[in-house]
Amino acid sequence: MSKELSQYGKSYDVEAFSKFYDKNSHAVPATTVSGESTKGWTNITLDGKPAKLYAEVEGNLVIKDGVVTAGTATNSAGDMTFGYPMNIPMEPNTVGNIHTHPVATNATLSWSTGPGDRSSGTFTAGPSGIGGDQSQAGSNMTDHGVRNVVVDQKNIYLINGNGSQTITIPKK
Ligand SMILES: [Zn+2]
Repeated sequence: MSKELSQYGKSYDVEAFSKFYDKNSHAVPATTVSGESTKGWTNITLDGKPAKLYAEVEGNLVIKDGVVTAGTATNSAGDMTFGYPMNIPMEPNTVGNIHTHPVATNATLSWSTGPGDRSSGTFTAGPSGIGGDQSQAGSNMTDHGVRNVVVDQKNIYLINGNGSQTITIPKK
């Protein structure tokens, strides 16, 4: 059953967004993180826990029976922090895009590239990780009147160009 969010001007099929995450979140290993190659990385951890790194996956949002839902075509750039929605194969009735975020909360990412080497960086995720997606969502609002969608393990975010208007729905 679709969760109707028509008070926001459109109905969004939240369950389909949750399924999009479940299907795609572990589909593509990350070959880069913010453009940096992960080749040769060992002992990768997130907040000290062993982790496998997966890439963002992008898909179309389509209108079906008057409801905004996920399409079937996907694309991934193989990077953990970005993707190219323009590279998703075309589908009829496309009105926006959805993508996965592989990490759901801010975390410290650490890795080694050789004996005695240890590198780390802060991974910005969760509500603070969608800032970079907002300008694109703003232009989509202008073109189609539909929010773009970001989904991670904890939440579904319906975003327009204004960060204070993000609709956050706990992911089931
Ligand atoms: Zn994003």
